[in-house]
Amino acid sequence: MRTKHIFITGGVVSSLGKGLTSASLGMLLESRNYSVRMQKLDPYLNIDPGTMSPYQHGEVYVLDDGSETDLDLGHYERFTSSPLTRRSSWTSGKIYRNVLRKERRGLFLGKTVQVIPHITNEIKRAIRSLRGDDVDFVLTEIGGTVGDIESLPFLEAIRQFALDVGRANCLFIHLTLIPYLKSSNQLKTKPTQHSVSRLRQIGIQPDILVCRTEMPISNIERNKIGLFCNLQPQDVIEEKDAEFSIYEVPITLYNNGLDSRTLKYFKKDTEHRTEPDLSKWYDILARLRSPEKEITIAVVGKYAKHKDAYKSIYESIDHAGITHKVKVRVRGLPSDLFGVEQLEDVDGILVPGGFGDRGVEGKINAIKLAREQKIPFFGICLGMQCAVIEFARNVCGLKNANSTEFDQQTEHPVITLLDEQQNITDKGGTMRLGTQPTTLNKLSNSFKCYQQTEINERHRHRYEFNNSYKEKLESAGLMIAGTSPDGGLVEVVEIASHPWFVGVQYHPEFKSKPTKPHPLFANFIKAAIKHTTEK
Ligand code: GLN
Repeated sequence: MRTKHIFITGGVVSSLGKGLTSASLGMLLESRNYSVRMQKLDPYLNIDPGTMSPYQHGEVYVLDDGSETDLDLGHYERFTSSPLTRRSSWTSGKIYRNVLRKERRGLFLGKTVQVIPHITNEIKRAIRSLRGDDVDFVLTEIGGTVGDIESLPFLEAIRQFALDVGRANCLFIHLTLIPYLKSSNQLKTKPTQHSVSRLRQIGIQPDILVCRTEMPISNIERNKIGLFCNLQPQDVIEEKDAEFSIYEVPITLYNNGLDSRTLKYFKKDTEHRTEPDLSKWYDILARLRSPEKEITIAVVGKYAKHKDAYKSIYESIDHAGITHKVKVRVRGLPSDLFGVEQLEDVDGILVPGGFGDRGVEGKINAIKLAREQKIPFFGICLGMQCAVIEFARNVCGLKNANSTEFDQQTEHPVITLLDEQQNITDKGGTMRLGTQPTTLNKLSNSFKCYQQTEINERHRHRYEFNNSYKEKLESAGLMIAGTSPDGGLVEVVEIASHPWFVGVQYHPEFKSKPTKPHPLFANFIKAAIKHTTEK
């Protein structure tokens, strides 16, 4: 069997950065020319995070095929080139739904349907679905924390999986926290010992421990952890908190031997592969460490204080900053609670996507200021829709123009549902989702950025630009810079007389990588740098 399996679990506390650690290992293996597939299994019961509040769950990350997934998949895409599809994202809800559908169709032939073996078999099927003749490693991250009731079927399934395919074909990595106690100036290993003992009770002996820590782990502590957790000290890998960027993490893990210990486990360390080529990543770190300038971008959104809600947008801004060697300070302004004076000194304004009417008027005020004061403006999805509303109201004089999402009775519905008759009762899966093509106008700024007319970007929205207002808005100076190839759906709007004013109906932030920044973000930041030098 060619494909080897790597399982990543987490212990002690949540939010340790399992996604980042998994993505970093994926990247390190790819940089040694291995082919990698990534997936996440989340123990919660929602079918997918599409309907979950960004407060609880952070951003919903959208894949090319339209799957609405966990933000960790964003890390996977930013760090690796593993193709991600709906098979890369599973929840207990999805697993149970599949099993119950089979039960209704009578596929279990009268048997009692149980967690073991029916749910665990379905989980194992999900893991196997990523194997292939061209795949060296499948990395499967298990969401949640060891000890949670909800994650038990997943842990049981991966235990069985190792039995099915052979223990030598499976590597278990456990990510834990080694807390530092200031008062006694000590690192504490006990929570890790407990977490590993929990795992061993259910039949999983981790092969590698990755230890999150504030302080370096000494050899004495490493030996102690190894002894208590039944591991060689070399397999206790330190992951010290990154100083200034998450892009340090893969290099830290490389320096501490995570990828080489992984290859050693699979007896691949003697293969004649080259050492990893990490030059691009060293270059990113060098740029991050020595910015030539600093600029400030305001992000005006409903969840601006909650960074995870706009994860990919913040990452995309950083990627653009890395390209231009600037440090970008992001001023997150909650759209219902800020004053326009907080925008007056910024070098660019970005209004991200969102749902619901809270804060919409604040976003519209921010866009008015950006338009009038000629501050670079970037509107994404709802941000683009608000730009159209602002233009209709304040340039075209269409009083109370609005989206029917916020005012069903508006006189001027400049943004509407494609089919207002659509009966939305099921809140999941009623949106325009996933990658769709856009044709750009050759005279547009966006064309200059992309350097091509046909582009593909990811969507996640229900409402659209209302074409019956096209002529009116165009004649007042709003440029329709991009549409669907048949011309039916407006995808990009711009104001040609403004230094940089672009609104896009899609989500460019899902396609930016640190090694390949998105052209619109890169150009927006370039315009913001120009704005600051001309101030
Ligand atoms: N609420 C808007 C719509 O559904 C915008 C969605 C978004 O910004 N992702 O069309």
